[in-house]
Amino acid sequence: MINLLDMTLPELEAWMAQLGEPPFRAVQVWQWLWQKMARDFSAMSNVSKVCRQRLADNAHILWPEVAAVEQSRDGTTKFLLRLADGKQVETVLIPSDSRDGVRRWTQCLSSQVGCAMACTFCSTGHMGFERNMSMGEILGQILVARTHLGDARPDHPLLRNLVFMGMGEPLLNLKEVLRALQCLNSDKGLNFSPRRITVSTCGIEKGLEELGASGLAYLAVSLHAPTQELRARIMPRAAAWPLERMLAALRNYPLKTRERITFEYLLLANVNDGPEHARELARLVSEVKGKLNLIVYNPAEGAPYAAPTQERVLAFEQILWKRHVTAILRKSKGQDIRAACGQLKASRALGLGADGQAG
Ligand code: SF4
Repeated sequence: MINLLDMTLPELEAWMAQLGEPPFRAVQVWQWLWQKMARDFSAMSNVSKVCRQRLADNAHILWPEVAAVEQSRDGTTKFLLRLADGKQVETVLIPSDSRDGVRRWTQCLSSQVGCAMACTFCSTGHMGFERNMSMGEILGQILVARTHLGDARPDHPLLRNLVFMGMGEPLLNLKEVLRALQCLNSDKGLNFSPRRITVSTCGIEKGLEELGASGLAYLAVSLHAPTQELRARIMPRAAAWPLERMLAALRNYPLKTRERITFEYLLLANVNDGPEHARELARLVSEVKGKLNLIVYNPAEGAPYAAPTQERVLAFEQILWKRHVTAILRKSKGQDIRAACGQLKASRALGLGADGQAG
């Protein structure tokens, strides 16, 4: 049976044409799916009964199932989702402060079940790759989050930003990620402008050009090391694309006016947080039209790294500032619920309780 969430609007129009339905009917169904978040054909009140029956006979609307939810003291909310084949992925809602007293949220989305990139600091990387997620599974995470937030208006004012920084490497599932981005950009669907969506990659040569040409999202690159040698230690597979060549590609990456590439740099105690690393990082980042996010490592159970001390983080920041590199220190949210990607799934598999201890 077809899951309607796996169809782009043109695909839905073509499929419904085969059922004898005109294109405007597909637009109505599409709006029910993505804007009004209908989970049942019977809810589609402006669609004729005959059409609803035809749909029900040939397709279903399948959302990911919520297997577990954990909420941090800071409001960060993490969902473990079960897909139709029983595989599990995670998505995280992160609160942001708001000027008008209304809390808005950023959602961190997964794009694959597991990940093949094996970055040494990442819980998902330790699980290995299982499979790509489909467009409907990727976007289904947003439907779950909006329902949780009670964000029922079509313009979803509470969910403001989306980041592809959950499980998986989005550029290794580019076909489905691009289809999802097209749907996100549709004003008849979820209607997210590209500047509210960030696709984060650890640096995959193949696919970067296509993503840039699409103009459908902003780009973030996980750098995490300022030299090829250190990057090869921390991110052995990503480092297959040499750092200097990756930066050369990023210098030519198509950017919109005011758009900048975001570099992510995870500070790992006594690994990449020294003054020499900060100096080299400043040199690299100033070569590209970019901005830098520093993230203090949030240690997972059994992780080979530790969080740096506050003094080292401050000293690192100061070296960057002196070199006129704007570095924003991102607070690690949801530490008490292990909100770094892959940690909830890993802890469930190991039978750990919410405090991360075996239970
Ligand atoms: S950090 Fe991202 S690319 Fe690296 S292993 Fe984890 S999910 Fe994959």
